[in-house]
Amino acid sequence: MAEFNDNLWAPWRMDYIRSLDHEAEEDGCFLCRYWQQPDNDRDHHVVWRTANTFAVMNRFPYTNGHLLIALSQHKGDFADLSEDELTEMTRSIRDGVAVLRKVLKPHGMNVGYNLGRCAGAGLPDHLHAHIVPRWNGDTNFMAIIGNSRVIPDALDTLWNDLVRCAKESGLVD
Ligand SMILES: [Zn+2]
Repeated sequence: MAEFNDNLWAPWRMDYIRSLDHEAEEDGCFLCRYWQQPDNDRDHHVVWRTANTFAVMNRFPYTNGHLLIALSQHKGDFADLSEDELTEMTRSIRDGVAVLRKVLKPHGMNVGYNLGRCAGAGLPDHLHAHIVPRWNGDTNFMAIIGNSRVIPDALDTLWNDLVRCAKESGLVD
């Protein structure tokens, strides 16, 4: 992500980077934990689930609406994915793009995978795609969000909007 988002200033991501090794030791894989706790989807900001994937808002977003499309299983290598998993990842990315387009009306989006830590992956062993909405002149995300302390509230509010749109789109029962 760092490569194509060098112009975005998201200082709270330093907290994330510092927490990575600590979190890995303390809590295991957060994507596995989220998948295994469907009753906590609101707290975790999981937006919808399919048989083999789920969409979750990034707690340390590059921009408003930064979504992760994650595999349900703890696999980090494309070579290990079944045909169903490959297809569902692509479909969920398609749906994520559609939901973000409806709710946030971005001017563009970055969609991609970071494979390996040197490529920017915080969680290299659990495959997930990033969808990052972009706006013309969005180099200063702070203008939208204000400061890192309002992030949790902003996430809750947007989660409600995304889930409503996902329901209207038939992604959530
Ligand atoms: Zn995992």
